[in-house]
Amino acid sequence: MTPGQRGNRVLVLNSGSSSVKYQLLDMAGPTRLAVGLVERIGERGPGLLRHTPGEGDTRERELPVPDHRAALEAAAGELAADGLGLDAPELAAVGHRVVHGGRSFTEPTVVDDAVLAEIERLVPLAPLHNPANVAGIRTAMALNPDVPQVAVFDTAFHTTIPEHAARYAIDVRTAEEHRIRRYGFHGTSHAYVSRRTAALLGRDPAEVNVIVLHLGNGASASAVAGGRCVETSMGLTPLEGLVMGTRSGDIDPAVVFHLARVAGMSADEVDALLNQRSGLAGLCGDNDMREILRRVEEGDGEARLAFDIYIHRLRKYIGAYTAVLGRVDALAFTAGVGENAAPVRAAAVAGLTGLGLEIDERLNTARGRGARLISPEYARVAVAVVPTDEELEIATQAFALVGV
Ligand code: ADP
Repeated sequence: MTPGQRGNRVLVLNSGSSSVKYQLLDMAGPTRLAVGLVERIGERGPGLLRHTPGEGDTRERELPVPDHRAALEAAAGELAADGLGLDAPELAAVGHRVVHGGRSFTEPTVVDDAVLAEIERLVPLAPLHNPANVAGIRTAMALNPDVPQVAVFDTAFHTTIPEHAARYAIDVRTAEEHRIRRYGFHGTSHAYVSRRTAALLGRDPAEVNVIVLHLGNGASASAVAGGRCVETSMGLTPLEGLVMGTRSGDIDPAVVFHLARVAGMSADEVDALLNQRSGLAGLCGDNDMREILRRVEEGDGEARLAFDIYIHRLRKYIGAYTAVLGRVDALAFTAGVGENAAPVRAAAVAGLTGLGLEIDERLNTARGRGARLISPEYARVAVAVVPTDEELEIATQAFALVGV
């Protein structure tokens, strides 16, 4: 390597309050050099580290991890044992997933003190996530001050949503004072999947309109016109929109006042109800779609109703986003449920031939891992299954920013 040149490696960090997920990628491929997870950071009892090298078996061990620094040091130790150093210049960048970038961050950004201060200023909008993201960035900076740290924001892809879709119809001054608007989340996934869908069609992203359904434990839909996001289902927080594993999604906000007045519930109690004890779990006791599908097969009425409510909401969003886009070229399913649950995909578009949507049931149920089409050739709208890869997208954005 000549002086001043950077290597091809990017470390991606997703720091939560009690866990850190990491991946080391070589962007020349790109290839995944290692994947790992440190859990139970700062909790009583030992932490857990799980590390899988690009080739070779997963290693798992318990260890003390009082804080994020200990977690990252342990991860660096595992990588070093595989001969993978984290020093500049081989390591070109560390890419950090940051949940909330507010309106300040529309693009991936190299972190300096001002950027860190701004991410901290956004903590009231993402009290559970941004502090952990900041802890991860600070730790990585301290451990390796020579490597550029790049923040990649979950909200950034949605900053192109026009005002008429991003604003709530509430008093303007109150909204402005408290920064209340629709920000959207899962942006890295929506960006990656919409671009990958265009590639699957052999077309330039600038030419195609795509509806992306990111259906994981958290779930969101987006409408992407010519590569730019114009609408998404999550709002001020990830609670709005689709029915999710444990979140209600859309609900009449008056339910909150009703519960406060009639049931005497506090704001925190209603928050916990809607975020943790609602959605599929609230409706039938299970939040895992595999389990729900199994119960539906057995004729379980509660699971059936939960499934039907989930699907009904999904279909409403498909219809709404068809109207938002005017012309839809593709509908893409992604994340754990979207990639794996053929019955969900089939039910989501059943009878929507009027919107140009149709699924070839043989293609829908065929085993496959990569991005693939599941609509018949003659269908007006292509329906696709596109595995998401948020870590690759973060690495790609970080690498493009620091250059070589
Ligand atoms: P997140 O990143 O939001 O935690 P994922 O995208 O990993 O979630 O999705 C996890 C969910 O995917 C699980 O809760 C489960 O409901 C669903 N899932 C995973 N595999 C399957 C499968 N084979 N069939 C149906 N659902 C699945």
